[in-house]
This record gives sequence, C-alpha cells and structure tokens, in this order.
Amino acid sequence: MAQVDFRGIGKTYPNGYQAISSADLTFNDGEFVVLVGPSGCGKSTLLRMVAGLEDITSGDLIIGESVANALSPRDRNIAMVFQNYALYPHMTVRDNLGFGLKHQKVQKHIIHERITEVAEMLELSSILDRKPKQLSGGQRQRVAVGRAIARQADVYLFDEPLSNLDASLRVSMRAEITRLHRRLKKTMVYVTHDQTEAMTMGDRIVVLKEGDVQQFDTPLNLYHFPANMFVAGFIGSPAMNFIDGRILSSSDGSIGFQCAHGTFALPLDKAWSTALAKDVGRSVVLGIRPEHFYESGTHRLGRYAEVELEVDFVEATGSEAMVHMRIGDVSTDRVIVRDTFADLPAIDQKLSVAIDLAHLQFFDPQTQQSLLPPEVASVASTKDAEV
Ligand code: ADP
Repeated sequence: MAQVDFRGIGKTYPNGYQAISSADLTFNDGEFVVLVGPSGCGKSTLLRMVAGLEDITSGDLIIGESVANALSPRDRNIAMVFQNYALYPHMTVRDNLGFGLKHQKVQKHIIHERITEVAEMLELSSILDRKPKQLSGGQRQRVAVGRAIARQADVYLFDEPLSNLDASLRVSMRAEITRLHRRLKKTMVYVTHDQTEAMTMGDRIVVLKEGDVQQFDTPLNLYHFPANMFVAGFIGSPAMNFIDGRILSSSDGSIGFQCAHGTFALPLDKAWSTALAKDVGRSVVLGIRPEHFYESGTHRLGRYAEVELEVDFVEATGSEAMVHMRIGDVSTDRVIVRDTFADLPAIDQKLSVAIDLAHLQFFDPQTQQSLLPPEVASVASTKDAEV
C-alpha cells in the first residue's frame, strides 16, 4: 500500500524563494497522478520532496502509513526516472537495468528474473548486451524507465522523462508508460509541462501555478469544470476563448450573456440560467473552447446559438481549420473557432457559426474563479455522453 499524502506541504528555498506555498493532496495507492503547469510553477520541487531530494520546509509528507519527512531517499522505497536519464555509459543495458537491484543486494537469480521481465515489458530483450552509446534516444529512455521499474518500489516518480525525445517518440513512449502503469498498478507521479501529456496519461492531474495548487481532478473534470481561468486556459489546445461581457435578464425573465463589444448575445440554458441568476447585471468572462463552435448547419444535437462574426485569418491543417474571428476592434479581440469547414472561409468574410450552449463557462473577472457549480459541468459532460 503506498498512498502519498501531502498535509500542508510547503517549500521555501534557502535563498528565501517560496516555491510551494501549502499543498494538501492525497495520491491514492495505484493511482497515476500527473503534476502539470508552466515552467517554474514548482512541479519538480513537489516531486523531489516526495523523493527526499529536497527538504520539506513545512507540513507532513506521508508515504504509506508513515511520516516520511525525515527519511533519506533510500529509505523511502521510491524509484525515480529523471529528465536527463544518465545511464552508466560503460555498462551494458543488462547491467544498467540491474544496477539498483545489485546495490540493494538482491540475490543474483532474482536480479536475472527481474531484468528478463522488465526487458520483455519494454522490448529491450534484443539489446541487453549493448552499451548506451549504441542505442537510439528512445531506447535509452526505455532503459532509464526499465532501470526504475526493475526495482520493486512503492512509488515511481517521473520528472519530465520524455522531454528530450522527438514528438513521435514522445507519443509512443507516453502510451508505453501508461500500459506499464496498467500492468504494474503502482502509485506513479509524473511531472510534465505538456497539457496533452497530462490529459492522456493521468488518472488525476494536479494543476500548479506559481507554487499553488489550482485544481486536482480527473482529466475530464478539468476540461468540463475548470475551477478558474488559469486551468481553463491551460487545459485544451488551442486554448479556451475568453470574452468579456455581462449577464442580463430580458423582460420575459430569461437570462442571457451580452458580449462587451456588442458583437453578439447568447441565451442561456436552464442549468446555466439558474446558476447565474445571482449574477444578473454583473460583468463576467465567458469561456468557450474552439471546438464548441460549429460551422452553421452542421450541428445536430443539443441547443446552439447562431452568431455572425467576421473572419480575421484562417489556419488550415488539412483535417480541420482554425478560424480566427473578430469580436471587437483591437487585434486581441478575437476568438478561435475550430472545425472541419466544408469550404474554407475567406478573410473578412462574414461567417455564421453556431455556439454549443451546453459548454459555456463563466468566470468572475476579478477573482478569475468559475461562477458555475459542479452540477452544471455534469450537465455538459452528460450531453457529451449522449452524442
Ligand atoms: P518546475 O519544475 O515547475 O519548472 P521547479 O520546481 O523546478 O519548477 O522550480 C520552482 C521555482 O523554484 C522556480 O522559480 C525555480 O527558479 C525555483 N527554484 C528551484 N530550485 C531552487 C533552488 N535550489 N534555490 C532557489 N530557487 C529554486
């Protein structure tokens, strides 16, 4: 059993820099947790505190049943894969894989069994007698992962292990590590700055910003119910569109959103109207993901509102197009619409697009926190399941 519990964990470096303010998190036994956020947000610091490579300034770190703050790295029964996966250059792949076990004074025949098993899992069996310099980047990385999992640790830590690989290798290694986790069912904590990596690998994801946990949730909950504008903008690519405006009520009592530039207005569905009745008259920020706009006439289920906007420019990738559309006068007043347009729109053309009303997000412009309760998010995800 290796649950990892952070109870008010903080980290201030000796120079006075506070890298983590106070983290309260529980990683369940067997869970794959991803720590994600922009460079410098404190991901590695948090991971290195679990490994015992950084002192903990405040709070308690509990691994399994016991407080681990004062335990040395070797007493924590943790294995780690680093970004710069330094393999021992003079040793064969076999000896690199077995190094940790030999160090732990594990019996020779058990080491042999483990190496055979890990090599088979990671498809290294045919290169066991090679030295690291005779391997490709991807093979070296697999050896580094294999070296960590050859040790039967309670918790496995990964610090941006794929960032030195090219894009296609990253995708295949991503799948390989996920498969490995499914097979081993061990607690794994994985650091990355790449939101796609986080979304595709994590059972749950911790989103960090400047040393503060913004949200800790499943990938789909982060996508459907971002707690604030930072999470909303960080998860998803291209990023969520943010549009300033106001919540208004009509004479018939219905509630809607009016864009601050006057370009368009949207009616709100029942769950949204109920949640935002308290905000009538208030300035809000509307969030809509590029994939929740559709070319007019192509949408089928659910409720949509048609709006007419002017095309600013178009990026076509073949399978789909990102159409940048004007909602105001200055160059930043743009929304990105992502769809598989039958005919690519022309620049300056007026284009009618449909907005999916089941995926609207609303935020407080001051606090940047979501104005929607989780029930509304579950309405949105249920509608997705119906489609
Ligand atoms: P991330 O992994 O998210 O890129 P880090 O955890 O490496 O971020 O760093 C978090 C912050 O702490 C950064 O601003 C970094 O400059 C700072 N930092 C990291 N190590 C030290 C150190 N030894 N002394 C002082 N500041 C540090």
